[in-house]
Amino acid sequence: MPATPTRRRLRVYAFDPSLSTRLDMWRANQVTLNLPWEPLGVWNGREAVKGPVGDYLEVVDVDPASGLSYEPVDLDEARLLASDGVEASEIDPKFHQQMVYAVGMNTIVHFERALGRSAMWNPRWVFRGGKWSQEYVHRLRMYPHAMREANAYYSPDKKAILFGYFKAVDDGSGLIMPGSTVFTCLSHDIIAHEVTHALLDGLHPYFTDASNADVLAFHEAFADIVAIFSRFSMPEVVRTELARAQGRFDAENMLGKLAQQFGAALGKRKGLREYIGKEADPSLIKRTMEPHDRGAILVAAVFDAFMGIYRHRTRDLMRIATGGTGVMPDGDLHPDLVERLSREAFTSARHVLTICVRALDYCPPVDITFGEYLRSLITADTDMVPDDDKSYRVAIIEGFRRHGIYPEGVNSMSEEALRWERPQFSEGLQECIAAALEEVERREKKDGRREEVVPHGVFLRGTTPPPHLTQRGRAHVKMDRACTIIRDYLLKHLKDEPDIQWQLGVCAGKRTPGSVHALDSRGRPSFQVNRLRQARRVGPAGIEVADYVLEITQKRDGFIDPERQKEVDKPSRSAGGRSGGADFVMRGGCTLNIDMKSHQVRYCMAKNILSDRRLERQREFLGCGVPGMGIYSGKADRETFAMLHRH
Ligand SMILES: [Zn+2]
Repeated sequence: MPATPTRRRLRVYAFDPSLSTRLDMWRANQVTLNLPWEPLGVWNGREAVKGPVGDYLEVVDVDPASGLSYEPVDLDEARLLASDGVEASEIDPKFHQQMVYAVGMNTIVHFERALGRSAMWNPRWVFRGGKWSQEYVHRLRMYPHAMREANAYYSPDKKAILFGYFKAVDDGSGLIMPGSTVFTCLSHDIIAHEVTHALLDGLHPYFTDASNADVLAFHEAFADIVAIFSRFSMPEVVRTELARAQGRFDAENMLGKLAQQFGAALGKRKGLREYIGKEADPSLIKRTMEPHDRGAILVAAVFDAFMGIYRHRTRDLMRIATGGTGVMPDGDLHPDLVERLSREAFTSARHVLTICVRALDYCPPVDITFGEYLRSLITADTDMVPDDDKSYRVAIIEGFRRHGIYPEGVNSMSEEALRWERPQFSEGLQECIAAALEEVERREKKDGRREEVVPHGVFLRGTTPPPHLTQRGRAHVKMDRACTIIRDYLLKHLKDEPDIQWQLGVCAGKRTPGSVHALDSRGRPSFQVNRLRQARRVGPAGIEVADYVLEITQKRDGFIDPERQKEVDKPSRSAGGRSGGADFVMRGGCTLNIDMKSHQVRYCMAKNILSDRRLERQREFLGCGVPGMGIYSGKADRETFAMLHRH
């Protein structure tokens, strides 16, 4: 019996189809992604259902606008296996299916490598047996032809990505034929961007609750950051572009433009969002509120950091190439130099992407700000690379500073000041957390012995797989159980310890203000333990950090009228009730990074539920009158991205 393959190669566009008609770009625009092998198609008892359907993604190619459903591509077919999949084509739906699958998986791979664990989709809330519970979502669905609209978005409700298609308008650029059909599912950037929204939602579900101006902007920026830096993982693209631009990233460089064809087809001549060659304006952040525009500032800061890192890594090469003048001679660069520069760009980009993803485990679970993200970046990187000899952190800080992004509550932009402090937990709290984790581990060991192994992926399409079937499903069930154990443990021991609760950013007990949801349905003191994840990260020098990442959150009713808030919060009222009729939801809690071996809490990123300043800030933000901001409030429907991405 031949061994199972380890990789699957699939052809995709590096940018989008429009660039294949440009003489200087067509070769770099067709790349082959090298993905981990997985069988595509699940066995339903009679036949293998194709899609492609893998362990993370399920491509469903029905087109409601035209009432058609397209035949699914069988990427396991011998002919396609031997030719790296279907040939790139604008009009072949089978290539469209292959493209969304391949770019989607590629994005997931980047993500998992940085986080040191499997990616999970955001669970679905279901009301069953009189209570709400979270149901495991095995696969994210991708609809390559979901609507006739100039839009593509991730739907947190449907756990799906919907790609639209539309007729191009004449933008006079000559890039695109007026009246031709533009498929958003063929844009590398758009696919990577949307899958990143879904991955981020799986990791931080409350980052879609716009409680301050940075939250949704962060979602957009992060999706763009991953899309841009995924591009640098394609060596052919980097090589071509650097040769064209004489080793520099300038305004004409394709590497910093996103969604070229999409932008052109909408009549916006340039890429949808451009990051290179803009002069930083540190005052812009104060007057920019629209999520994409505000997010672009964060992307620019990260891109500046990347350029700083690239410049630092290529200083010697540039000196040699320019004879010390810094000015490149006219004409083409030597191919060896292009090769060396591309390698440096590739490595810098991979490191920046890894740092950006890894920092997510160091972010507070709610109400994220750009400044806090900076602190998370610095802390995460210090953990993995204590000695910053390549000046990465200096470049990151410099990038953020240039764009006017400063964290609150720190008095300098030095590395020491930006790093999250080690928590000064009381012995009682530290012991309590350690004991809860020991309990989790004890139960896991006991259950582990009973666990049976069932082959992967045997279930009917459209049904929920029994969670014990796959590794990720098992991890989800384990996590769920662990969260309940920890929550019960913490509540039992911290019930009447307001000072200790304060350190975790939550509040449950006698003196809880009335607006805090501090009681569960049976009237017991309450907050939620949402997630316990394991992260095993390995740094470039081989340093290994194995952490539990624990997330605790709590809700509070917010009122636009401060008097009403005061009334509800009066100590005389019954503590911790649900006041009803709230105008918005405020959230608090913390993310804890806990050493997996010693169970010592290393970091605690808390956002206090009792913070009046935060409550006031959220109130102000929701009432700030930015167009469309009303729907971003706590009561907004969950199709935020459908609205945000519409053009
Ligand atoms: Zn987006």
